[in-house]
Amino acid sequence: MKSLLTVLFLAAAWPAAAAPAVRNVILVTIDGLRWQEVFGGADAALIDKDNGGVPEGAQAALRREFLAATPEERRVRLMPFFWSTVPASGQVFGNRARASRVEVRNLENISYPGYNELLTGRADPLISSNTPIPNPNVTVLEWLHGRPGYAGRVAAVAQWRVFTSIINVGRSRLPVWVTDTPLPAGTASPRLRELERWMKDIPPITGGEHFDAFVQAAAYEHIGRLKPRVLLVAYGEPDTWAHARRYDRYLQAAQRCDRFLRELWEHLQSLPEYRGTTAVVISPDHGRGTECHDWTSHGKKIPRSEETWLAAFGPGIAPRGEREGTPVIVQAQVAATVAALLGEDWPAASPGAEPAIADLFP
Ligand SMILES: [Zn+2]
Repeated sequence: MKSLLTVLFLAAAWPAAAAPAVRNVILVTIDGLRWQEVFGGADAALIDKDNGGVPEGAQAALRREFLAATPEERRVRLMPFFWSTVPASGQVFGNRARASRVEVRNLENISYPGYNELLTGRADPLISSNTPIPNPNVTVLEWLHGRPGYAGRVAAVAQWRVFTSIINVGRSRLPVWVTDTPLPAGTASPRLRELERWMKDIPPITGGEHFDAFVQAAAYEHIGRLKPRVLLVAYGEPDTWAHARRYDRYLQAAQRCDRFLRELWEHLQSLPEYRGTTAVVISPDHGRGTECHDWTSHGKKIPRSEETWLAAFGPGIAPRGEREGTPVIVQAQVAATVAALLGEDWPAASPGAEPAIADLFP
């Protein structure tokens, strides 16, 4: 009887209390990681010098590590945690070989428009470049921060400096930590100061971004100090190495993101504030080209770089595994999905925002 009453209560309370078991959400973004690798693993055609930029001497070891007979075997080699965890306790969308499509709604297929879309719930045609203008739009992070129970408990750590603009820290006042940018004097914890020293001593790959390892270290520090109920962890190296036409490093970066995800998840399960009450949503910000010459790039001139993927797992999410034959999902649905997992209604607060992904919920 009790369970029947619980079921009736949940049904009646939808969507305001859609998932009361979830107290925290970790939103993980992996910049520019293609659905082709997520679902199919490494592409043998890119493990070479001309297409993939893989040094001759590194090719044999890379093939041994990442290639296998089937897409299902290859993807487990690339992302073992993802494929052992998401199908069993969540869902993943975007495998076009199985008629599941995820795409960006913005017309640019680049990062700022993509992150704006997934954090605000809609594409903004005025955000059409990566120029770090303070975002005029309110993100779901900023909105949640003003809701009861979230003050001081929403944060972001990111590999890309532009996140301070995307989340408009001048207005939102959210703690947004980005690599390669020292915090104002006297405001960093001893651990973050230590990370800043390491980042200064290790040359970044390109300006305005540094290694994902620093994002991971900063994530632990923010979890320990702030106990955030909503944390954005934004990895970026797969995009960096793809632009550099280094398919070996792109694969290794994706594999590292998977390991970071496992370690983050295991860390959260060791903490009473998070164990059993934390859901994870994972998304890239755009796709990439599909040809040997343009897999490195993305943007409105690169065909099919609007194609992405999306995953979520943990409490509050129906374990329907890898989805097939689903209606098209747009990246803009991420914002409302994060809110709905917490029992909050973002489209009601921000009319025009795309709805949560209803299929995710029990
Ligand atoms: Zn890029």
